[in-house]
Amino acid sequence: MTNCTSCKGQYDETDARAAAAHTEPVHCNARRTCRCQGKPGCYPCGDSFCLCSSH
Ligand SMILES: [Zn+2]
Ligand SMILES: [Zn+2]
Ligand SMILES: [Zn+2]
Repeated sequence: MTNCTSCKGQYDETDARAAAAHTEPVHCNARRTCRCQGKPGCYPCGDSFCLCSSH
C-alpha cells in the first residue's frame, strides 16, 4: 500500500485505477484560484467553488 499525500489515505499502487485517482491531476474547470488545481481526484476539496467532475 502507498500513502497518499493528498487525501491522507492509502491505496494499492498496483491497482491502476486507484493509482490514477490518487496521482493524476483532475481537469479543473474552475478558475485558477480553485484550490484543487493540479490535485488528484481524491483530493477532498469538496466545496462549492469546485466545478471538477471528479470531485
Ligand atoms: Zn488520495
Ligand atoms: Zn476539486
Ligand atoms: Zn476545481
